[in-house]
Amino acid sequence: MGFVKGLQCRECGQEYPKKPLHVCETCFGPLEIVYDYEGIQKAISREKIAAREKNLWRYRELLPIDGEPRVGLYSGFTPLVRAHRLAAALGVKELYVKDDSVNHPTFSYKDRVVSVAISKAIEFGFDTVSCASTGNLANSVAAHAAKAGLNCYVFIPDGLEQGKIIGSAIYGPRTVAIKGNYDDVNRLCSEIGDKYGWAFVNVNLRPYYSEGAKTHGFEVAEQLGWKLPKHIVVASAGGTILPKLAKAFKELVKIGLVNDTGCKIYSAQASGCAPIINALKKGTDLISPVKPNTIASSIAIGNPADGYYVLQAVRESGGWGESVTDEEILEGIKLLARTEGIFTEPAGGTEVAVAKKLIESGRIPRDESIVISITGNGYKTLETVAQSVEKPYAISATLQNFDELYQRLDQPAEAKAAGI
Ligand SMILES: *Cc1c(COP(=O)(O)O)cnc(C)c1O
Ligand SMILES: [Zn+2]
Repeated sequence: MGFVKGLQCRECGQEYPKKPLHVCETCFGPLEIVYDYEGIQKAISREKIAAREKNLWRYRELLPIDGEPRVGLYSGFTPLVRAHRLAAALGVKELYVKDDSVNHPTFSYKDRVVSVAISKAIEFGFDTVSCASTGNLANSVAAHAAKAGLNCYVFIPDGLEQGKIIGSAIYGPRTVAIKGNYDDVNRLCSEIGDKYGWAFVNVNLRPYYSEGAKTHGFEVAEQLGWKLPKHIVVASAGGTILPKLAKAFKELVKIGLVNDTGCKIYSAQASGCAPIINALKKGTDLISPVKPNTIASSIAIGNPADGYYVLQAVRESGGWGESVTDEEILEGIKLLARTEGIFTEPAGGTEVAVAKKLIESGRIPRDESIVISITGNGYKTLETVAQSVEKPYAISATLQNFDELYQRLDQPAEAKAAGI
């Protein structure tokens, strides 16, 4: 197996060998994996994929490893939930939630990219893995490093939620909290990467890492019965997942696994950190960095590395994007929880709220298939919703106390009047 031909610069086309490289030496453009698609088309079929384990490696010909996968054997293949009650609430006909809030083992879409990056890091012979993270990536790198027995350093901005901090620390990495925001963390990590020669999954292994995000798209198509949805909404932070969904759909068409029925892709950001949406609405390719100020910490990246490619993929697909306020994000979290029983973090609240906004404004038609990607889990970010849910009613353990409470809260007025 192994259908990777090498690396190639996205901008000038210069070719590079399969090495831990990520930028072009001549034009500083990002490097991307080049595959032998003819070989892949001969090697796989819908039937072959269907017979494989239900994890993200079922699409391994389209992933950049040469040998056997080393981690992520339980990652991916998350549920695609037919969301009838959320559909009714939003007034649409055919709605699905792609639920990466239950991805194994760290409950976000990042387990996809990290499974690929760490398998590749092991192939390259690295003994220390690392990342610049807004929280979820650190959780995933720490967990997968533990499973693989690698040394691990994770770098995060200070001030993250407890669930994200402890959700890394428990696996035993060194966690370094940098004073500042993600963009400060990222800048420092480039320097550390150069000096220490570690495998930074989202820096020097980025071309390999980002390919893992395609599996979210492959699964959506497979779970719809090898069809593309008409519309898909996903959050954008550094800009990895959205362009990779576009790539995933194109690859499936190219190797003949789905028909090219077109899928419009929509980017979701928080108003407090919307550099990509700002550029989209201005109609420019130039992304002006912003200073993040939002409860959606996992997507709070003010200077997105691949923001340009998000714009390109959105425009090429005929999609669009929106940003929503922190209040709308909280409403989005509650709406998903109360209609579908799925508890997501603020990034997922953003995805729901943006889908709602795009439907209400007529950008997404009500009678076509829509997928909302839910990329993270709400149990990690309890602080952000603690003030906007009902507190428990504290009573003593007597039936009379409960009777009184029930009458006050929920007994219908007629029953109350009739003294029942
Ligand atoms: C990282 C992340 C995203 C998207 O980030 P990209 O860098 O654009 O791929 C979305 N949701 C959650 C919960 C994340 O952790
Ligand atoms: Zn180049």
